[in-house]
Amino acid sequence: MNAYDSGLGKNAANYAPLTPLDFYERAARVYPDHPAVVHGARRFTWKQVRDRGHRLASALAARGIGHGDTVSVLLLNTPEMVEAHFGVPLCGAVLNAMNTRLDARTVAYILEHAQARALIVDRELAPVAAEALKMLGRELLVIDVDDPEYTGAGERIGEVEYEAFLAGGDPAQSFDFPRDEWDAIALNYTSGTTGRPKGVVYHHRGACLNALNNSLLWDLPRHVVYLWTLPMFHCNGWCFAWAVAERAGVNVCLRRVEAQKIFELIRAEQVTHYCGAPIVHSLLVDAPAEMKRGIDHKVYAAVGGAAPPQAVIEGFEAMGFDITHAYGLTETYGPATWCIKHADWAEKPPAERARLNARQGLPSVLEKGLSVRDPETLQEVPADGTTMGEVMVRGNVTMKGYLKNPEATAAAFRGGWFHTGDLGVMEPDGYVKIKDRSKDVIISGGENISSLDLEDVLYRHPAVLAAAVVAKPDDKWGEVPAAFIELRPGVPVPGVKELTAYCRERLPRFAVPRHFEFGALPRTATGKIQKFELRQRLKSQSAIDV
Ligand code: ADP
Repeated sequence: MNAYDSGLGKNAANYAPLTPLDFYERAARVYPDHPAVVHGARRFTWKQVRDRGHRLASALAARGIGHGDTVSVLLLNTPEMVEAHFGVPLCGAVLNAMNTRLDARTVAYILEHAQARALIVDRELAPVAAEALKMLGRELLVIDVDDPEYTGAGERIGEVEYEAFLAGGDPAQSFDFPRDEWDAIALNYTSGTTGRPKGVVYHHRGACLNALNNSLLWDLPRHVVYLWTLPMFHCNGWCFAWAVAERAGVNVCLRRVEAQKIFELIRAEQVTHYCGAPIVHSLLVDAPAEMKRGIDHKVYAAVGGAAPPQAVIEGFEAMGFDITHAYGLTETYGPATWCIKHADWAEKPPAERARLNARQGLPSVLEKGLSVRDPETLQEVPADGTTMGEVMVRGNVTMKGYLKNPEATAAAFRGGWFHTGDLGVMEPDGYVKIKDRSKDVIISGGENISSLDLEDVLYRHPAVLAAAVVAKPDDKWGEVPAAFIELRPGVPVPGVKELTAYCRERLPRFAVPRHFEFGALPRTATGKIQKFELRQRLKSQSAIDV
């Protein structure tokens, strides 16, 4: 043993587990009176949020909930959801924020799989929760959230209401969790675009580091005013639930994504930052000009969760908002890469600028590696912008693994890389560009067709509001591209012939869709288009073939 390794061990004076829970303690200490949460008439300072979080932890602990237990929540983006991100892990438990659009059967499946000890539920979601609890067939502590901002239907179903529950907790109680930074902090089920939901386990260390990544890579200012357009159940709001505390910022809550309300809040609260899937951004770009009036300050938007069509990025520039692109998965705590902008991009023509910004980008500062590799041999592909491989990441911001699923965990980490299942290329400047999910790529007559490239072309057609392309089995070609299109209201409807001609001008012949369908596209709660449903539809519906 060399001198540097002997007698120089870790102890409480020189080592503490990394955790994002420290962020809210610090915000409360340094900025006790600074606004932390805004929700309609309800406003809380950082001291109040800290005390409410501690009360929650204390009340849960009094019910015997602690280290290694799961607390599930079915909550919208309300103050309680912010508090749960601190209070639940503080008592040693793991926060399982469920997707609010799940059906009762899936909720029951998750409660069972996660062995939830408690469920905190918003009154709006109580009917689904009640049905799920019936299916579950066992007792657990149910706490109702009755948000004064919500006036719709839904009965309380729990044994105790959230405010009464908090009143029973002691804000002065101290906790010593996490004991290890590798302890679980959150359990997030994949949204199921690729099959049965898997329980992705986050540790305190990763949550802390990805929150810091967000602050660093997006240059979040101190006291950022952050609007919750992104569901907090999605990767803990891409870890922004913790990042906003680190910046002692303001969480501007939002129960529902509606353009009018979003612009009102941006104006009234002087929102500086928000995130969302491309659909959220398109909604804002397409909103009438009067809604956008009176916004004179700079607004920064981050887009991710699905590939943003270049057209959305161009639309944003026109609106005067600054848009940054991020990419990741539930397994990477949300954003694993950010498309960092370079000063000289500003001088490029708009279409080229949009192309550069639509790339998924570079690994975040605290992630170790990002690579595009052959999924079988793990051989790295050349950085030539054309050789496809599977996008892989490794390092500090990758999940602990899948809960109670060692096979899936081992497969995901094969060869010491996390396999994202996304296919992409490495461009010469080290930026990654995703071309498809491995199962979404279309192979027609031996040619690989990227559905994302094809969708980008369709999105540029003035009548196209949204487009998704999937493979359709074909006797002659093996597969042919089939395009599903949501039309923009108020624009002349193009015929199949016109769209085909439009694609022919812009794409190689083999990549032109042979099949078009028009209508609303099926989406997940986070705005992702459910391609598997489109493939189902292809099987069961007759459509127009060209
Ligand atoms: P699920 O896998 O159940 O859809 P995730 O939210 O983990 O749930 O989805 C991650 C996937 O979303 C990625 O593997 C990728 O296919 C897609 N994705 C996320 N962000 C982007 C992006 N910026 N560009 C392209 N695809 C993205």
